[in-house]
Amino acid sequence: MSFSLRTPTSRWRQIQKENFTQVRDLADFLELSEENRAQLLNAPKFILNLPHRLASKIAKNDINDPLFRQFVPLIAEQEKKEGFVTDPVCDTDFRKEKKLLHKYHGRALLLPTSACAMHCRYCFRQNFPYETGTSDLTRELAYLKKHTDLREVILSGGDPLSLNDAALMQYLHAIDEIPHIRRIRFHTRFPIGIPERIDNSFLELLSGCQKQIYFVIHCNHARELDEDILSALRKVGQLGIPLLNSSVLLKGVNDNEETLLQLCETLIDAGIMPYYLNLLDPVEGSAHFDVPAARGRELLQYVQERLSGYGVPHLVREEPGASSKTRNLSF
Ligand code: SF4
Repeated sequence: MSFSLRTPTSRWRQIQKENFTQVRDLADFLELSEENRAQLLNAPKFILNLPHRLASKIAKNDINDPLFRQFVPLIAEQEKKEGFVTDPVCDTDFRKEKKLLHKYHGRALLLPTSACAMHCRYCFRQNFPYETGTSDLTRELAYLKKHTDLREVILSGGDPLSLNDAALMQYLHAIDEIPHIRRIRFHTRFPIGIPERIDNSFLELLSGCQKQIYFVIHCNHARELDEDILSALRKVGQLGIPLLNSSVLLKGVNDNEETLLQLCETLIDAGIMPYYLNLLDPVEGSAHFDVPAARGRELLQYVQERLSGYGVPHLVREEPGASSKTRNLSF
């Protein structure tokens, strides 16, 4: 494999540095009334982190806006509810190396970074004790080499696109050298907040990789998308990389028929397959997002009656210890 990276641009890094991180600044930007400000959690443990372009899509003074709900900390996060815990999918039980999880047959998850372009309030990994002290993946790569039944490496996090291209190149190159690994899957929400991340340098990096790449984005509402984002993703697709989307079913965000239909249709119009509709992983502080599985089935029935089969995601739940995501919730 040969990579010839040009000098990496730092434009997306500059954009990222301008993210909203102070609740008061965001409240001012969103022109929230005093009554609405009273609903905000001012010093959340999982800090506010929101790119400007995403904040610009939120309606002013509307705490029920579906984008607002996903990214802005609310006092509802302080509610304790039975079954809502710090590690709802038992990630730590499957941690084989500091930056590697191995849950399912044939694939392993690399967590090379804890950083994300934005912080989603329902994130099941918001309490994960990431190893951030080193960028070294020697032990993780040794694990991948040793387990010859592995076929796929999933780059997750955090968000793998938070890494600079030099680090990504190093990891992709190392995985390319492992013969039994055939596929590399990116899981990323980064382009939804900062589509500039998909620049020529990144595309060159992807095209230099010899393994089959899959690119899974995370989008929950059609309003998160716009032409700049779709055009950036199209460039990834033009490299022969399948594009998929994984959503989370969230109360007050996408738990109604027309919203979900519009999301799926926007995705398939752009050549992105709706892949999963995940039921919420019950992480502490997220109970206000919970939608019952039965409602998820109803919603997908509506979508199924209106779209071609490839436009309908699988309704899934992650059950710790199961041999895969549980799909018997689907049709
Ligand atoms: S982008 Fe993904 S990993 Fe990062 S906070 Fe959102 S859900 Fe969690």
